[in-house]
Amino acid sequence: MNLNTITEVKRPASADQITHWRDGYAWLAGGTWLFSEPQVATDTLIDVDALGWPALEASSAGLEIAATCRIAELYRLAAPAAWRAAPLLRECPDALLMSFKIQNAATVGGNICMSLPAGAMISLTVALEGIYTLWPRNAPPREVPAVDFVTGNHANVLRPGELLRSIHLPAAALSKRFAFRRASLTKLGRSAALLVGTQSEAAHDLLLTITAATPRPIQLRFAQVPSATELRRALDERIPHDGYFDDVHGSAPYKRHLTYYFAEQIRAELAQPRAGT
Ligand SMILES: Cc1cc2nc3c(=O)[nH]c(=O)nc-3n(C[C@H](O)[C@H](O)[C@H](O)COP(=O)(O)OP(=O)(O)OC[C@H]3O[C@@H](n4cnc5c(N)ncnc54)[C@H](O)[C@@H]3O)c2cc1C
Repeated sequence: MNLNTITEVKRPASADQITHWRDGYAWLAGGTWLFSEPQVATDTLIDVDALGWPALEASSAGLEIAATCRIAELYRLAAPAAWRAAPLLRECPDALLMSFKIQNAATVGGNICMSLPAGAMISLTVALEGIYTLWPRNAPPREVPAVDFVTGNHANVLRPGELLRSIHLPAAALSKRFAFRRASLTKLGRSAALLVGTQSEAAHDLLLTITAATPRPIQLRFAQVPSATELRRALDERIPHDGYFDDVHGSAPYKRHLTYYFAEQIRAELAQPRAGT
């Protein structure tokens, strides 16, 4: 849609050119959300596309994803064979509402900064133990673990004018075994629950990430794969009965049910010995 409150679009060659931040400014990435509804409080868009950051840089340390990387580019990454969790780079983009249409325009950073409970790039980067680099205005960069970035529905730790620059996914996390479960009330609909479990190569641990069902990501870390009873107890302790996200994409009791159901499936799957061991 046309945004008739916008009077200026800035296209800086460097983020440092934006030294002064005021109400009415907004970073513009893929624009898929910004142009989907009126932005009455915004008069100036600052386009991050012109910043020219390399989209993806893979190395022995892991994967560096620019905030401006299109979700479709991440989807197409030919990952090293040792990254056993790399299929998540496709499973999570496929979990986006409207999927390929949004995938092709939306950026990884835009999806994260939207901070929706069902933000699929949040699910991905939290499950893979990502670290976000944030660029405040007129202050040194800071790093935030992905799991701590989103604080609630459409809420995060970004300060006014702060830019999400990049996401680092460590090779150790990318090399883990994983199990993925997701449900949506409609085909290509928004996720009602998206859970990912990962397990280190050398250990019998479990890192369980719960998204979409709760307003912000929840992560449970177990040194050993727990029993079904231990898992239920851990979920009970970590997520209060009223701690599930209620919206048109699923009621809170439904999302609670899915969380327990999928968590147990993931636990059982990762409790099995690895193939070949
Ligand atoms: C109809 C509809 C349904 C959707 N359903 C889903 C869904 O089910 N699951 C899901 O995950 N997403 C969903 N989305 C959200 C979609 O994923 C977002 O539109 C998209 O991810 C945003 O990315 P973008 O690059 O287009 O961001 P933009 O629309 O350009 O920006 C989104 C917001 O992030 C800010 N921003 C962007 N980049 C940065 C940055 N680098 N640093 C700081 N702030 C930044 C912008 O200022 C703006 O506030 C839906 C969107 C629409 C319109």
